[in-house]
Amino acid sequence: MLNRTIIDHLRREVGAGNVYHEKEDLLVLGYDATPEISALPDVAVFPHNIDGLRAALETCRRESLALTPRGAATGLSGGSTPVRGGMVLGLTRMNRILEIDEENLTATAEAGVITVDLFNAAAAKGLFYPPDPGSQNVSTLGGNVAENAGGLRGLKYGVTRNYVMALSGLLYDGTEFHTGGKCVKDVAGYSLRDLLVGSEGTLGIITEVTVRLISPPQDKRTLLAYFRDIRTAGEAVSRIIAARIIPATLEIMDKTTINCVEDYAGIGLPRDMGALLLIEVDGHPAVVAEEAEGVRKILEEVRADTIRQAANTAEAVQLTAARRTALSAVARVSPTTILEDTTVPRSRLAETFAEIERLKEKYGIRVATFGHAGDGNLHPTAVTDERNKEEVAKVHAFFGELYEMVLAIGGTVSGEHGIGIAKKGYLLRQFGEGGMGVMRRIKDAFDPTGRLNPGKIFIDTPSPKCPQMLGGTHD
Ligand SMILES: Cc1cc2nc3c(=O)[nH]c(=O)nc-3n(C[C@H](O)[C@H](O)[C@H](O)COP(=O)(O)OP(=O)(O)OC[C@H]3O[C@@H](n4cnc5c(N)ncnc54)[C@H](O)[C@@H]3O)c2cc1C
Repeated sequence: MLNRTIIDHLRREVGAGNVYHEKEDLLVLGYDATPEISALPDVAVFPHNIDGLRAALETCRRESLALTPRGAATGLSGGSTPVRGGMVLGLTRMNRILEIDEENLTATAEAGVITVDLFNAAAAKGLFYPPDPGSQNVSTLGGNVAENAGGLRGLKYGVTRNYVMALSGLLYDGTEFHTGGKCVKDVAGYSLRDLLVGSEGTLGIITEVTVRLISPPQDKRTLLAYFRDIRTAGEAVSRIIAARIIPATLEIMDKTTINCVEDYAGIGLPRDMGALLLIEVDGHPAVVAEEAEGVRKILEEVRADTIRQAANTAEAVQLTAARRTALSAVARVSPTTILEDTTVPRSRLAETFAEIERLKEKYGIRVATFGHAGDGNLHPTAVTDERNKEEVAKVHAFFGELYEMVLAIGGTVSGEHGIGIAKKGYLLRQFGEGGMGVMRRIKDAFDPTGRLNPGKIFIDTPSPKCPQMLGGTHD
């Protein structure tokens, strides 16, 4: 608990309505969308502008408080959970779209803008902002940058990093940074921008983002293919990519997910199928026609059970929307959903599906798998109940064994959800002490006292710079 003088000071500086310190308010600010992880901050501050943010930071420094940046808290690795207490810094009230620059094809917005609002503002000017995480109706641009979020269009259009041109913000020590700009080419100095993208709120607080916009595709076609078994679906994905066809969207759902989505959305998906692929090709009409035909041919060759094309735009939108609901639909099945983010080279998808099936049997747990198959990015999701400790232990053993296989075939422990708290052990396994040591030095350069979003990414080994920040129940 912070003393009254500090709270009163914050209320004066940031506005009384933007400071929360009662337990009942703080409880809802102690977790994100990641199960099993929650903590209570001492105070939460939601500045409306940069002056309020500076004042909040100053208080943190004066009182030696940990500070955890927070967007919409849709994160899936516990990144915005204040595990060392201190201050939660909410960015959602700094949410203005500052400019759509039609000459330079850029948009500039405050970090708290909701992703889909930026998309819509660009679309209103006939422009296109492609990154579209499944959470886009809620997530913030700052959170997307901090996690380098991907989305359903990632295969063809790339992820958030591919669109970030400039970032502004503050370090914990109050240093203001402006990195990048509207220049298409810019190799001046180290790219601080690229270090900050995907830094999960551990290096700096992002307040303003400039992104690149492109022209929207002229045409698109949506195909749906059903398969008796998921391995064949994986093979189809590998063959589409090997044929050098890059759809905008190439998403997969396994049987359990199909059934959850059907229970939730009721759009007539076949419940008895082992898997489905949702494929969207877009671009110039002539290219779209050719690519759709190429995809259809491959689906026939691998003997997909059913192949069909969305009859019209409304149906295509409905199908994509159904895929976006996958996590919410699966989450209705049980009190706890533990979702992972395994990513493998696309040529290894079929064997990854086979391994998931084998491990499901071995541990006797329920797992729904869906994801951005075209990116090799899968979200095996265990449906469980965190009160059932025995089952949860099996779930963690399942994922531990799966990640061993994923790393052995050249995969990564996170394709898009980041490390946060949830994956610190796996990250160490992927990078080893050497790689983690380099990352630690970068962290120390940006944040020598270690108070910005502490407890994340690193399994806290002694840091020469900040021995006082060691320990904590989540390491
Ligand atoms: C239903 C659902 C679907 C999802 N689908 C996808 C998907 O398709 N692709 C994908 O990549 N992710 C997906 N996610 C995960 C999540 O939505 C993304 O990671 C998103 O980018 C988080 O944004 P946020 O605003 O909620 O950030 P938060 O969860 O609040 O924060 C995430 C991290 O960013 C840091 N942070 C937030 N704002 C700032 C800032 N301004 N400056 C510095 N650090 C900051 C936080 O400290 C934290 O470490 C999904 C989540 C859900 C619940």
